[in-house]
Amino acid sequence: MPITKTLASLTDNLEFAAYRPRILIVDDQVINIQALNQIFARDHEVFMATSGQSALDFCRKTPPDLILLDVIMPGMDGLEVCTQLKQEELTADIPVLFVTAQNDANEESRALMAGGMDFISKPVNPDVVRARVHTHVTLKLQRDLLKQLVFTDPLTGLANRRNFDQAIDKEWRHCQRNGKSLAVLMIDIDCFKQYNDTYGHLQGDTCLQAVAACLQAGFRRPHDIVARYGGEEFICLMPECELQSAISKAASVLRTITDQAIPHSSTKVSDSNIVTLSIGVAATVPGDQLSIAELIAKADQKLYEAKQAGRNRVGA
Ligand SMILES: [Mg+2]
Repeated sequence: MPITKTLASLTDNLEFAAYRPRILIVDDQVINIQALNQIFARDHEVFMATSGQSALDFCRKTPPDLILLDVIMPGMDGLEVCTQLKQEELTADIPVLFVTAQNDANEESRALMAGGMDFISKPVNPDVVRARVHTHVTLKLQRDLLKQLVFTDPLTGLANRRNFDQAIDKEWRHCQRNGKSLAVLMIDIDCFKQYNDTYGHLQGDTCLQAVAACLQAGFRRPHDIVARYGGEEFICLMPECELQSAISKAASVLRTITDQAIPHSSTKVSDSNIVTLSIGVAATVPGDQLSIAELIAKADQKLYEAKQAGRNRVGA
């Protein structure tokens, strides 16, 4: 299915799935918040903040789908709130609609320069504000979906390789700054070609999904990332992790998979008739010896050694 078609059907589904977009209303006057709340309460999950600082705190914890932001507030004004939101990765993409009693072009241009998507005058006209919010929420949800499609492997739901490449770049720099070790696990399903030949490619897909789910469940630290790297190959990134801990984790992943006992009658792994994995592990403190590419190549080499040594084992 072409990606545009997929997106359209997904957004249709979103609308019909009765998803309630999360809107944050920010205004120092409670009466203004109440007026907007009346307009949106039925179809949206509405949150409220009466100061710039509390709006920022809320967005950093639980980013909403859209913000209706008063410009004039004591302390931190709306422009400052918007500027700060746009500077932070987690909140930069939240659409901000300014709501203001002022009606001059200078003010409007300052609001748009600060990163606002739109500008709505007080007193608000319910139909106008509803229509504008609908437009911007729809665009935001479409962007979210697109991002999800671009960074996710469709078969397994894991991160894809593009996602992994970005993540390792970021975590590499983080570990470099902090002098911490970072580990990479290269993971391969043993004799997967034979599996497909025996059971067919559809069953092969089911097997990939089962392994992916096990891996996803196995790496639970907040910054760990498991990605599908290629056909039956997965890669896992463990920031702030020493080689020895990564090896123990790899061993426990091997056990989790054999516990699943997924039948594999044509495997060449001796004394086995179930699906097994081989895992290569490598770790380094960024900046010391290896580049990112060399670290991944090393994990790949260790995986190769594990295969040569009989599969269903960890190489390190
Ligand atoms: Mg105000």
